[in-house]
Amino acid sequence: MAKILVIAEHDGAALNPSTAKCVACAARIDSADINIVVLGSGVGDVAAQAAELSSVSQVITVENERNAPAIAAILAPQIVALADGYSHVFGPSTAFGKDLMPRVAALMGVNQISDIMSVAGSHEFKRPIYAGNAIVTVKAPADHPVVATVRTASYQAVDGGNSAAVENASIEVELPSHTRFVELQTGSSDRPDLQTAAKVISGGRALASEENFEIIYKLADTLGAGVGSSRAAVDAGYVPPETQVGQTGQIIAPDLYIAVGISGAIQHVTGIKDAGTIVAINKDEEAPIFEIADIGLVGDLFTIVPELTDALGE
Ligand SMILES: Cc1cc2nc3c(=O)[nH]c(=O)nc-3n(C[C@H](O)[C@H](O)[C@H](O)COP(=O)(O)OP(=O)(O)OC[C@H]3O[C@@H](n4cnc5c(N)ncnc54)[C@H](O)[C@@H]3O)c2cc1C
Repeated sequence: MAKILVIAEHDGAALNPSTAKCVACAARIDSADINIVVLGSGVGDVAAQAAELSSVSQVITVENERNAPAIAAILAPQIVALADGYSHVFGPSTAFGKDLMPRVAALMGVNQISDIMSVAGSHEFKRPIYAGNAIVTVKAPADHPVVATVRTASYQAVDGGNSAAVENASIEVELPSHTRFVELQTGSSDRPDLQTAAKVISGGRALASEENFEIIYKLADTLGAGVGSSRAAVDAGYVPPETQVGQTGQIIAPDLYIAVGISGAIQHVTGIKDAGTIVAINKDEEAPIFEIADIGLVGDLFTIVPELTDALGE
């Protein structure tokens, strides 16, 4: 039987939805016994949220002042100590998981499997390569624990309604002193988070300035959508880096994605492969974005976007 440890991502108060998606992936493994570990300081509320997730048999909390804010170098040795007896250790393919899980894998002496998008067996997984242009099936040795990240855009969060047991574990391991928390710099926005937003509207290089992005924000607010961008728009300084969608940005799966003035480079498109309906607005009818768009509007974005905002706002 597979015994799977899922590492909870949280901010000390709320469980990140990526955790419920990791559980969904773990639940695809036959007769899996799924536990969640919540590392932090004062994480009772987060553990209670984790205990509600269906398919989870137990939530383990590891309380330590040094676990908040989370630093991969500090969390990894504790996870390795706790992982003894588990056949799989899963974390999300978010910035948190991509930072943490390679350390866990290295300390356990195994190769990490990255970006699981589907489960073909307890030790066999599908994952994207070449910016999502090819899918490979990877087999992990059955006599070693599997350490993996889960491509959260490929999974729907499991339901709530469960009441798994919550237990505190005390772990005695030496924690490294070479890495310490200094400061967290993060963009703040009242708009929906890209990872969970049902609708996302992204702007590209064609917006041509930070000020012009205002028309994207207006449309987003009218739709109740999150705001994304292409890397070109980020590199030009029109929008902050956390808005970037794509291979080196965020991989997202909203129900509706509107790409405004974005050409559709493969590195961008790989970030929206799992989106529901894709709408593209571009003045070049040959733009590659139209190859994947469900709805294409050919024309000047500076005319189309304000018109759309007015029409939807009425
Ligand atoms: C290793 C690597 C990783 C990368 N990772 C990412 C990533 O994560 N995300 C990402 O986005 N990119 C990424 N890129 C960059 C990517 O290759 C493209 O350069 C980038 O996506 C282009 O951004 P863009 O579509 O905004 O700009 P452009 O390619 O310049 O396209 C602008 C589009 O706007 C249209 N346009 C211009 N004016 C108007 C107008 N007035 N009205 C309507 N349409 C108009 C044009 O026709 C054009 O199609 C990566 C590249 C590399 C090499």
